Amino acid sequence: MPDAYVPLLADFVLDAGEAAAVAIANNAADPWNFVSADPAEAAALKSAKAKILAYHLQRHSDHCCYCRGNLHGAGPYMTDREHILPKGKPTFKPYSYTMWNLAAACKRCNMQFKGQSDAFVVNKTDATKFQDGANYLFVHPNFDRWEDFLDRIEAAKGGKRVVGFEFVSNDPKAQYTHTFFKLQELVMDTFDKQQRAPTIAQTSELGREVLKLAEQHRQRRA
Ligand SMILES: [Zn+2]
Repeated sequence: MPDAYVPLLADFVLDAGEAAAVAIANNAADPWNFVSADPAEAAALKSAKAKILAYHLQRHSDHCCYCRGNLHGAGPYMTDREHILPKGKPTFKPYSYTMWNLAAACKRCNMQFKGQSDAFVVNKTDATKFQDGANYLFVHPNFDRWEDFLDRIEAAKGGKRVVGFEFVSNDPKAQYTHTFFKLQELVMDTFDKQQRAPTIAQTSELGREVLKLAEQHRQRRA
């Protein structure tokens, strides 16, 4: 299994109680939504799910694995534990708690576009292909490095914001991801051209750098 992020999936650990609770849930008809009648077991499963989410957020620097929207401090109403092979399909249920099949996504990408779709899976029946990035038409949240395919440029200041996406690679995965998650809908630029330069440029070195990138991006789009 190739792993494109750190900390490595191979280094993820649950404590004994959490691992036991996951094993029990995996035997249930609906593993992910299983709630144990035993309060300690239920608490252990909840703890395992929290650890899984925190780990995946760390791997993606608190960004959505699909659109790179900010999830830092976003909390449960904006953040989803994402099952890449959808947990609602019987074939993929066994991967409900499998780390390479999990990620952290924003509600928009998960609920609005991803849902229970498996249209992005090339071979949906041969389980030996499920851990191969080439078996996924979009940028896989664990096997592919998002920044090798796309770049999200974003800057905000004084109530104004610029958001854009650029293709870093000609790989069809970049275009597929852009289309599948309708990233074009997120593109915006409300900066006033005259006001922008002095205000942001004065704030910091980073501010100047971001401004320069945003301006370059804006010019390329024009
Ligand atoms: Zn997203």
